[in-house]
Parts: sequence; C-alpha cells; structure tokens
Amino acid sequence: MSDQTDIPTTEEEWRARLDPERYRILREAATEPPFTGAYVDCHEPGTYRCAGCNAVLFTSETKFDSGSGWPSFTEPAVADAVETRTDTSHGMVRTEVVCRRCGGHLGHVFPDGPGPTGLRYCINSASLELDREAGGQQE
Ligand code: FE
Repeated sequence: MSDQTDIPTTEEEWRARLDPERYRILREAATEPPFTGAYVDCHEPGTYRCAGCNAVLFTSETKFDSGSGWPSFTEPAVADAVETRTDTSHGMVRTEVVCRRCGGHLGHVFPDGPGPTGLRYCINSASLELDREAGGQQE
C-alpha cells in the first residue's frame, strides 16, 4: 500500500483488504484485548501508518509507556491526520479517534497523558502498521 492507496467504497472491499481482527477494529470499532497488540511495548523508531489506508498517523517520537496495555501517543504525527468523535457506547462518554483519510477506528483519546499535550491517544495495535526507520537507532 502507498499513501495514494485507494480507499475501499464497500464493506466487501474492506473485508477483502483487512484480516478479520483488523476489520473488527477498524470498521466495527472493536478493541483488541490489552497487552496483546504488536506495538504495546515497541520502542523502535519509525512512523505508524493506518492499517486501513496507509496514511501517516503517529510517530515513535510521541509514543510513551502508559501502562494501559495499548500503544499510547501524546499527539498525532500531524494535527489533521486524525479526527475525533464523541462515543457514548458501553455506558461511557469517550472521545473516539478515527483516521481522517479512511474513517477507520483507531482508539480513543483521554485527557490524562503526559505534558506538553496532556493527552493520551490510546490506539489499537491492529489499526497501525509500523514503518521502521531504515538504519534508525534503537531507543
Ligand atoms: Fe486510514
């Protein structure tokens, strides 16, 4: 996939593109169980892209260990990479985070992150694909 990858227009096309877990999370807003995702403890430098459309969403520079069991970031790679929506499912009021390019569900954002943003973008590993920096240094 490239940045210019076409965005599917039907759920059938999305099912063909995504494995079942990614489909449930990106397209049906499911949540992966905590501490199970590929990137929870990942400290490799690189760029996290949308697993649905390849858009650049987050970078390793803003990733931090939140202890929540999900990859956590203080901010998106660029402000308009993601979009937020109020989510009142499961008897809670939360702020859902979706990919602006394809509308895929990424996770939620909470106001309990570290400075300077004070935000914690709590993102499913399955919604992301890490583009490792070629020859990059290990953090
Ligand atoms: Fe996307």
